[in-house]
Amino acid sequence: MANEQLRTAAESEPQATEKLSPSIHPQVFQHTVNQADMAISITDVRGNILYVNPAFTRVTGYGSDEAIGKNQSILSNQSMPRAFYQSLWKRISHGEPWGGRLVNRRKDGSKYLAELSISPVVNGAGEVLNYLGMHRDITEVQRLEYQVRNQKALIESVVDAAPVVIALLDIDDRVVLDNHAYKMLQADLGMAEPAPMLMTAVRASLELDSGRGRRTSGYLFLDREVRLDPPGGKQPRWFSCSGSRVREDAGTAEAFLAGQGRDYLLLVAKEITSLRAQQEKARVAALRAVMADEDRVSSLRESLAAATFRLEGPLNMMASVVGMLARRKGETDPMSVALADAVTAGQKALDELRSMIPGETREPIGPVNLNELLRDVLDLSTGRLLAAGITVNWKPQAMLPTLKGAPNKLRSLFKALIDNAIEAMNTRGCRERELTVVSKARLGGIEVIIADTGPGIVGTQQLKVFEPFHTTKRGGGHLGTGLPSAQQVAAEHGGFIEIEPATARGCRVRVLLPLDRRP
Ligand code: FAD
Repeated sequence: MANEQLRTAAESEPQATEKLSPSIHPQVFQHTVNQADMAISITDVRGNILYVNPAFTRVTGYGSDEAIGKNQSILSNQSMPRAFYQSLWKRISHGEPWGGRLVNRRKDGSKYLAELSISPVVNGAGEVLNYLGMHRDITEVQRLEYQVRNQKALIESVVDAAPVVIALLDIDDRVVLDNHAYKMLQADLGMAEPAPMLMTAVRASLELDSGRGRRTSGYLFLDREVRLDPPGGKQPRWFSCSGSRVREDAGTAEAFLAGQGRDYLLLVAKEITSLRAQQEKARVAALRAVMADEDRVSSLRESLAAATFRLEGPLNMMASVVGMLARRKGETDPMSVALADAVTAGQKALDELRSMIPGETREPIGPVNLNELLRDVLDLSTGRLLAAGITVNWKPQAMLPTLKGAPNKLRSLFKALIDNAIEAMNTRGCRERELTVVSKARLGGIEVIIADTGPGIVGTQQLKVFEPFHTTKRGGGHLGTGLPSAQQVAAEHGGFIEIEPATARGCRVRVLLPLDRRP
């Protein structure tokens, strides 16, 4: 009866459909619908079922004889809101298709999630004659979707709760995903994004190690220890960083075949500041001992050099007197002879003194992080700074490029400058005592400013202080070789030291060391 209804409705209408290819028999359509893997039903305008295909029976449990003549509402679970069906019917009765998800009930009472689409079948006049319903059971798909969603939420909460800094970076080092620890670090450092800075430090360390070829299995880099110098003179922080490549499938049609995707870098940084602080303590103590030794040797060198320098003058004078006497009174004159003997003995003693001057030790050239080095020097000077009541204003650039140089020599250079600054401020009448140390990458090199609030160096003295044995310091013990030696070290590194003119107060010394010049 229902099939007859269907046939009558279809036959009675002039078909405004597309022309069929002569090679396709109209029955092919029936076979297609019959054999389709989707539950298909055709209803009248009230939703009464006129036809169902075998897939409908497989999905719902209703055979065609049980379904035909019944309303589609046999599948209703009576749990969807009334408004849901109202809007469905509103659309289809206006000749518009509808699609959505709903809970259905099978013949045996079990529920399933259906993805349903209903298309009105209209005649040439645009009147709705029938409805074509197609649906499939998507309970399993939905379960998998939820499983993925739940797993994502779980992974996100684990990543968020992890006590290590985690950030996913795109190829431009932009952070596309981060965790709570990362956000905390960002807030602590008062920086826009710490990840690019960590990456710059990692790359610098990889560059330095490029020859060593360390095995990192699936990682791009593993356990790279890098240092961040937060702004505002805060203590440096150390991180052990590992990075691995993460690939995301693009999900586009083109990418489906070509296997295209986007690469990301998963950066995991574990803070090791407290561990490093202990190691640093030990290192600074060892450094202090080495520097003290070097200080002793260099002051011996300085004293001997000054002694020979001072002896040379009178000896030269005596030698010219001997010459004069010999010309006037003859070479055999007893006074000339005695004086000539004295000059020779004096020269011999001077040569012996010169040979006792300890030679410079050759220091291997290596990578130097000037922030680290300056921090060492400040640490070494802590006692003196505290004793003199000097506050330190340490302003390092958060990430400095590494330069190649002789670390001990450079340390002595900055120590000499900082010692000078401390001494200049540690005088009576100097009320404001502030030492400012700034590091900055500039002009293809690294610029370090060491400024104090002491009495300063007057214009005429600003060049003279670099001359050997020239000192502006009152009292004994100063031979005036600190700045000349420092200047020599700077020159050996292809750089220079200058005293900036016209500073309002105190002295401002500028050191510029190029990055690409080997000493
Ligand atoms: P009802 O009281 O039958 O309907 C709820 C509301 O829907 C009514 O208040 C009314 O506003 C509106 N409505 C119902 N019938 C009509 C109508 N003939 N004309 C205008 N408005 C109407 N439902 C499912 O739950 N699962 C299915 O898989 C499903 N497939 C369908 C396939 C087709 C081709 C069509 C045409 C409908 C389908 N429906 C399906 C809808 C179904 O016909 C019922 O409307 C629905 O099941 C709600 O039934 P009910 O007994 O809960 O409420």
